Amino acid sequence: MRIDVVTIFPDYLAPLDLSLIGRARRSGLIDLAVHDLRDFTTDRHRTVDDTPYGGGAGMVMRPEPWGRALDHVLASGGPGVRPRLLVPSPGGRRFDQAMARELAAEPWLVFACGRYEGIDERVQVEAAERFDVTLVSLGDYVLNGGEVAVLAVTEAVGRLLPGVVGNAESLVEESHEDGLLEYPVYTKPPSWRGLDVPPVLVSGDHTRIATWRHRQRLERTAARRPDLLAPASAAPVEDLEIVP
Ligand code: SAM
Repeated sequence: MRIDVVTIFPDYLAPLDLSLIGRARRSGLIDLAVHDLRDFTTDRHRTVDDTPYGGGAGMVMRPEPWGRALDHVLASGGPGVRPRLLVPSPGGRRFDQAMARELAAEPWLVFACGRYEGIDERVQVEAAERFDVTLVSLGDYVLNGGEVAVLAVTEAVGRLLPGVVGNAESLVEESHEDGLLEYPVYTKPPSWRGLDVPPVLVSGDHTRIATWRHRQRLERTAARRPDLLAPASAAPVEDLEIVP
């Protein structure tokens, strides 16, 4: 997968050199480039913002550097290629595991990181002629910029790409993959500070372990995220009766 990020804070994306995503970049599974929006300004002060038309607090990102930056990114692709342009925004589509799966199937993601009061509205309108534009929100709160959203989305999407996570089986039963949260996990020692590992997990009985884990997933989801249970209609009805 190819990923391009346009930002006024390239250093903010440094963690993408670390851990599994960093390794995926080095092995060529992810081709990720970070572009400094200020490189696409034309004035001495490398200005990217200005006061809002209509008045009001804060500054707005000017369209010209954004237009040039997106032209530059697009020109490095093949003719006729239409990348997915993700614009982090608190008013965007809420990012979740289903969207991570959807994005993991894309060959090329481009992120446009807003700052200040956001990017001049015309940028996404004009970009829609050349990109598939999606506004994406991390949640119902306001961040200072889109860079944290890029880190979150890239990590969630990147770990779904074949070969990025060493053991692909570990992805299957994770929280949010099928609408349920994951069961509790334990490792050695069997007893720690008076707390024992549930005996079923050391029984060696794989059928009982699978049943216990499924029940734990249902109980945990009912207790912590009951809103997730409605779509989990695939679960047996008797199990869905587990209500806290
Ligand atoms: N004035 C904007 C509003 O009320 O919608 C908020 C601007 S915010 C201070 C600056 C930038 O942070 C946004 O343009 C966006 O790129 C990013 N951002 C803020 N909250 C976000 C969220 N919940 N999800 C994704 N990006 C967010």
